[in-house]
Amino acid sequence: MSAQSETPYPYDAPVSQALFDRASAVTPGGVNSPVRAFRAVGGTPRFMVSGKGAYLTDADGREYVDLVCSWGPMILGHSHHEVIAAVQEAVARGTSFGTPGEGEVALAEEMVARIQPLEQVRLVSSGTEATMSAIRLARGFTRRTKVIKFAGCYHGHVDSLLAAAGSGVATFALPDTPGVTGAQAGDTIVLPYNDLEAVQEAFHRHPGEIACVITEASPGNMGVVPPGPGFNQGLKDACARNGALFISDEVMTGFRTSRAGWFGIDGVVPDLMTFGKVMGGGFPAAAFGGRADVMAHLAPAGPVYQAGTLSGNPVATAAGLAQLRLLDDAAYDKVNAVSAQIQGLVSEALSKEGVAHQVQTASNMFSVFFTNRPVRDYEDARGQESFRFTAFFHSLLSDGVYLPPSSFESWFVSTAHDERAIQKIADALPAAARAAAEATAA
Ligand SMILES: *Cc1c(COP(=O)(O)O)cnc(C)c1O
Repeated sequence: MSAQSETPYPYDAPVSQALFDRASAVTPGGVNSPVRAFRAVGGTPRFMVSGKGAYLTDADGREYVDLVCSWGPMILGHSHHEVIAAVQEAVARGTSFGTPGEGEVALAEEMVARIQPLEQVRLVSSGTEATMSAIRLARGFTRRTKVIKFAGCYHGHVDSLLAAAGSGVATFALPDTPGVTGAQAGDTIVLPYNDLEAVQEAFHRHPGEIACVITEASPGNMGVVPPGPGFNQGLKDACARNGALFISDEVMTGFRTSRAGWFGIDGVVPDLMTFGKVMGGGFPAAAFGGRADVMAHLAPAGPVYQAGTLSGNPVATAAGLAQLRLLDDAAYDKVNAVSAQIQGLVSEALSKEGVAHQVQTASNMFSVFFTNRPVRDYEDARGQESFRFTAFFHSLLSDGVYLPPSSFESWFVSTAHDERAIQKIADALPAAARAAAEATAA
């Protein structure tokens, strides 16, 4: 039986479909991370075989302009020759030693040099590990249990952080997924994003109990919903007043939105920060870090345990370091310019067809919401006309433009998005905008 979901979209990727059928036999849902299965938009997930610059090539031999960039990491485009050379050089020396090595020191030094409040970092292998460890450290440091997070913010699949209360009211979270116990979710307080009053109230209701507030530095996991003026500073101040730590999750924004990530844009000083994506150069490398006095509580310097067989892996750190060293001001100028150009083209095409939409940005991260109101929190994001996105997505896909397969995701571009890539997007947009205009709710 075909694993293709029920969809009005044509069966036009036979080799990918055959791979998806094989995958579905041996892997739940046919994928190793849910969004890849195209469940939100339907159709056959494209199995990619290679990437070069701004382009991906799928198993059916079709080329796409990539606006996902591996969900952010590939900020220099795919197969950048200097990153590949650094990886090859590292691989030739061996792939894992289980000892300290110079590469991980150099990567940590590069990160600390870029971000003034980042005094020490610990390397891990995924963003999930980074946020999980940062939360543990915050609890160990403060000797408190409760964590405040915001609805619509994603911090990886950490048990206690998968809780997201759907209502806009401050509430104890119910687990969002089976397998997360009430106890694990019960110490998580989920609040509406961009609502400082709710944060004050939560601190008021739980005096001396809140270990930390964790937030995406600028959220990209409900689509791009930047913090309102003063929001991050307000979080920092509320934490400082109440003896809690402020954790800024920069897994997505770190080294993407500027040389120093979102900190480089809003300058709000967190106690702890988390990183992943760009810093790994396309390999599994991530990190958490911040104040030296807090990090000193981490084993072996202190009592809070944290470890990893492949942490600081020499190949991953070589890739990350090579990528960060190439990310100078000119590189960010280029990514920002490409982003602005594509934003303009998208908005122009949708306006021409009379499609209500918001292009929301956070530096070079952006996303398109099909709604006529600005999106300030998760409730707003869920109010968009996602059915229009589905039609828009499939029209672009069939014309060789690869968008994130969900309307709740940021789009990502790279320094490698050249004139040809932008022209291909421009050529595909009118039909996609028309499809969005003509779409009807299922
Ligand atoms: C991607 C992401 C994570 C999780 O990182 P993984 O490497 O997928 O575990 C955590 N926080 C944010 C903000 C992210 O965007």
